[in-house]
Amino acid sequence: MIGLTEARARVLADCRPAPAAFTPLADALGLVLAEDVEAAEAVPPFPSSAMDGYAVIAADVAGASADRPARLAVVGTLAAGAAPATGVRPGEALRIMTGAPWPPGADAVAIVETTRSVPGARGLVEVLAPAAPGDHIRPAGEDLATGQPVFAAGTLLGPGHLGVLASVGLTGVRAHPAPTVGVLSTGDELVEGGGGLAPGRIRDSNRPTLLALLRRDGFRPVDLGIARDVEDDIRRRINEGTARCDAVLTSGGVSMGEFDFVKKVLDQLGAMNWMQVAIRPAKPFAFGLLAGTPVFGLPGNPVSSMVSYELLARPGLRRLAGHPDSRLVRPATRAVADAALTRHGDERTTYLRVVAEPGPDGRLRVRSAGGQGSNLLWPMALANALAVLPPGPGVPAGGEVDVLLLG
Ligand code: AMP
Ligand code: MG
Repeated sequence: MIGLTEARARVLADCRPAPAAFTPLADALGLVLAEDVEAAEAVPPFPSSAMDGYAVIAADVAGASADRPARLAVVGTLAAGAAPATGVRPGEALRIMTGAPWPPGADAVAIVETTRSVPGARGLVEVLAPAAPGDHIRPAGEDLATGQPVFAAGTLLGPGHLGVLASVGLTGVRAHPAPTVGVLSTGDELVEGGGGLAPGRIRDSNRPTLLALLRRDGFRPVDLGIARDVEDDIRRRINEGTARCDAVLTSGGVSMGEFDFVKKVLDQLGAMNWMQVAIRPAKPFAFGLLAGTPVFGLPGNPVSSMVSYELLARPGLRRLAGHPDSRLVRPATRAVADAALTRHGDERTTYLRVVAEPGPDGRLRVRSAGGQGSNLLWPMALANALAVLPPGPGVPAGGEVDVLLLG
């Protein structure tokens, strides 16, 4: 057996980021930026009003109040999108809207809430409060100055990032494409979809699960179907997968059973790395490059395939997607065990399926999500975290435990 860190290092040694390509912003959500971006323009590009009101000269409204309003002549109206207007001179006010370009001469906004019209005098406004020079004026470049670094290579592009890139006039950026990942189920017992089950058959749950995990994580899933426990079928589908995809996940057929042909076929196809990883569940694991394409042989038990994906495949796929090393693995969080968390007395690090929720004191608390057998998918689905129990006595009620928050 080898430790998880060693197994993961073997995976990562063979996973390299996909070459970057120019990507339109509309397609870049969730991708990893492959270049440093600087602001080619200032944002905002010109000084403007931050409020609806009147552009005034602060000195004209000094000491203004409801009892002693400052009366000014309204010389026009400036909307957002207008070209900068005539200036404002002493005794004048220019009606101005949020986002309108700042007029010369004025140095403050008297916000509309502190003004009133003068009955019978349409060209006048009364300002009821003082304004300090600079009040409610947005300077040019307040968000980003021209030439300023904006985002570094390695940045994960979220909605706000795409907005910022658009704000500096970019229509696309160089980003690492999301890898396409094939998913192949293996097993003579597996059937797809509804309908009656013939004796000895079960429904394929790993494939929908793994396809969904890939989609959740921003990869592009490709359904490679179910291979029968026949060498030719397994070989044909794996070859199809490595030809079509940037990586392939298989489930089942990697343990010690008589019909575990995935192991045999992967061995024939290339140098696979067979591992017994010191974790529970998901001890058996295979990994290797077939024609340069990473192939992950996940165990067949439904919980094992999900945990193996989380701990071994996902970090490798994130590397393909261009994530920096600091972001390949989910960080652990400390939580308090509601009840004792028990484990087998072996040397494997145990990943318990747990529900994590904040307790009354705001600290994260965890409780078992149910049965912990590697075949019990329901508790895995109910869980939102894995509690990490290293070899040892487990965790008593009220004790602290590391958890990986999934999702
Ligand atoms: P294997 O590793 O192929 O021996 O499979 C281990 C266990 O997982 C067996 O009970 C299989 O029936 C089950 N299993 C394998 N593949 C799937 C799948 N795609 N969906 C649900 N159960 C599976
Ligand atoms: Mg099988």
